[in-house]
Amino acid sequence: MTFDRPVTRSLTERAPQPQVPPSRAHPGAVLGAIHLGAAMVLLLWWGNAETSPTLADWLTEVGRITGLLAGYAVVVLLALMARVPALERGIGSDRLTRWHAMGGRYTVTLVVVHGLFITWGYAVAANTGLVEQGRTLVLTYPNLMMATVAGLLFVMVGAVSARAARKRLRYETWHFLHCYTYLAVALAFSHQFSTGKEFVDNPTARVVWSAMYVVVALLLIWYRFLAPVRLAFRHQLRITDVCHESHDIVSIYMTGVELHRLYAEPGQFFRWRILSKGLWYSANPYSLSAPVHPDLIRITVRLSGDHSRALAAVKPGTWVFPEGPYGAFTSGRQTQPKVLLLGGGVGVTPLRTLFETLPVAPGDLTMLYRASREADIIFRDEFEVLAAQSGHHVHFLIGTRDELGYDPLSVPNLGRLVPKLIEHDVYVCGPDGMVAAALRSLREAGVPERRIHLESFAF
Ligand SMILES: Cc1cc2nc3c(=O)[nH]c(=O)nc-3n(C[C@H](O)[C@H](O)[C@H](O)COP(=O)(O)OP(=O)(O)OC[C@H]3O[C@@H](n4cnc5c(N)ncnc54)[C@H](O)[C@@H]3O)c2cc1C
Repeated sequence: MTFDRPVTRSLTERAPQPQVPPSRAHPGAVLGAIHLGAAMVLLLWWGNAETSPTLADWLTEVGRITGLLAGYAVVVLLALMARVPALERGIGSDRLTRWHAMGGRYTVTLVVVHGLFITWGYAVAANTGLVEQGRTLVLTYPNLMMATVAGLLFVMVGAVSARAARKRLRYETWHFLHCYTYLAVALAFSHQFSTGKEFVDNPTARVVWSAMYVVVALLLIWYRFLAPVRLAFRHQLRITDVCHESHDIVSIYMTGVELHRLYAEPGQFFRWRILSKGLWYSANPYSLSAPVHPDLIRITVRLSGDHSRALAAVKPGTWVFPEGPYGAFTSGRQTQPKVLLLGGGVGVTPLRTLFETLPVAPGDLTMLYRASREADIIFRDEFEVLAAQSGHHVHFLIGTRDELGYDPLSVPNLGRLVPKLIEHDVYVCGPDGMVAAALRSLREAGVPERRIHLESFAF
């Protein structure tokens, strides 16, 4: 099959590299700041804790400290998902999402423990039952009705995000339910000041706490809602071509204005909102499959579900709103002069872009492209032309293990194809099975964990 690809000219005419704003948060620094914030919260609690506590005080103090930490944790969780460029470039969306998911589990636990221990402590102090005390708190204390609804919403969001439930839900349904977190945060806010001992008589604490919420709200409004609209108007992206790369993979070409000012780095992705019937309401993530030119962008999509399949039928001229760029699967992760790119399936899309652009000496870049069948290979011509131009290496590892009679991702085979494997940075992207096999071999071969860079297309 031959393809008339508009982007083919990028093989001879190099795309200008983006002048990336030098904002890249360091993961260690961000984690440090999060822990420092938690320590400040503990100090705030410590300064107001009972000095000679009774049993009721002990229980209530557990409720207070968990409540304060939960109030802080939700702000951190929202900040991680605010799509702040420095976080996206420095940490990467997949790692931010993992931190968010892990933090979410802690937060829901804190919320539940907070509610239970406050009620228990008050019940012991008033010498009454747990249920009776719970009713009194909800019905008579200021803002506690709203806070209780918020707590239930947090638990609901936690439940639908648990792995077992998440797998059964459509992405759109899960996403819709997840948005109730915003409502929960808003409902829970006021009870902190009206009933929280740490805030009632401490205006400074109230101002700092409110500022934390306001800053994160502004980040969310700007980066999740206003910035994408600004990008859309500034760059005026429209689809020009949709070309089949294989029976279930299409490339989508878009043109627009001053696209280099999107500052998209090779290896990054955008969430694409396609303004056509049935597609406009969701923004799905797809990686760049070629470096961005001032007037041309390409993504390459496997036709898997409703959204991707509908993309194959999109008409030229359709407007596109890009949200991004996101992701840290870029040259920013490179630490060594030699690089191995290892991919398969539609996971080769960011690798194709990196193969053209990574700053390495001729011959120091190797691409290993794993596929079960020749018909599954995409961009073979582009990889071969780029390899010939740059002196880099590309190897297509085609065939099942049974057909080949050996495992193409085994340590001996990797060692044969990539001399001095352990001196390489390795970028991996592909189907789960391939990625797992590659990681096993790379670790067995002694490639340090910090030099293995993963991009996951899973959510
Ligand atoms: C960082 C990243 C880069 C990616 N790059 C590519 C690429 O270059 N080429 C490619 O083919 N695929 C890529 N994907 C995967 C691609 O985004 C999904 O396969 C696609 O969104 C599935 O949508 P669907 O409706 O066709 O499939 P469905 O079968 O309806 O959905 C499959 C799964 O995709 C996820 N999903 C669906 N809609 C969304 C959404 N709006 N936002 C987030 N997740 C959603 C859900 O987990 C869902 O279960 C990438 C994913 C990520 C996270």
